[in-house]
Amino acid sequence: MAPRLIASLTLVLAVVLVLTAACGRIAQRHSAGSPPGTASAAPCNEAGEDFASDVRLARCLTEWFWTKRFAASGRTYQPIKAFIPYHGTGGPDCGGQPAVPENAFYCPAGHFIAFDVDWLESLYNDMGDGAVYVIIPHEFGHAVQAQLMNDFTYNVERELQADCYAGGTLSGLLQEGQIRADEGDDSELLTSLAAAGDPTDAWWAPDAHGSPEQRQGFFAKGFQRGVGAC
Ligand SMILES: [Zn+2]
Repeated sequence: MAPRLIASLTLVLAVVLVLTAACGRIAQRHSAGSPPGTASAAPCNEAGEDFASDVRLARCLTEWFWTKRFAASGRTYQPIKAFIPYHGTGGPDCGGQPAVPENAFYCPAGHFIAFDVDWLESLYNDMGDGAVYVIIPHEFGHAVQAQLMNDFTYNVERELQADCYAGGTLSGLLQEGQIRADEGDDSELLTSLAAAGDPTDAWWAPDAHGSPEQRQGFFAKGFQRGVGAC
């Protein structure tokens, strides 16, 4: 079976989506025209041909990737306990904190990931399928942090490392031939490129995610050097 296709990609372009709340802004970066790679056996029984299937595939591949990474260093990756789509304000709370609309988040208290499915689907429709392959690995980055090292002075460090993990996951999956980046239409992404980032430069703020340049930079670092560099 052909590896998964990611459409509308471009190598140098990093896209920052304007999101809100806890996991507010996601740096999105795609590569164009990469070689098909040497595909290993498909670990996930998903076609990835529509939104729902892409979401399931992104989850499955990301956990597959981390399971292998953990095993390679003699550890055992603990899969998340739940992967919860929600609508608007109807999300699960996390340690007493209510979920907010238009967001995706990892909850350490329950070791689960939840996402506003309507919001994610609109990004998927607007930005292409790459959106879910950045946002979902970013949230899994937090699930990995919870298992490895979770001692950050500033939230922005946690967020930027998750961006780096997301970049490393994506390039790892590309190298293993589990996903494929195709040359695509940059203009669509360029149009979507928002002058995003934190509204202030208050990098110490509890909800800080980093400036667009920082987010793109950390995503690129993971993408180019792998999760070990994060
Ligand atoms: Zn985050």
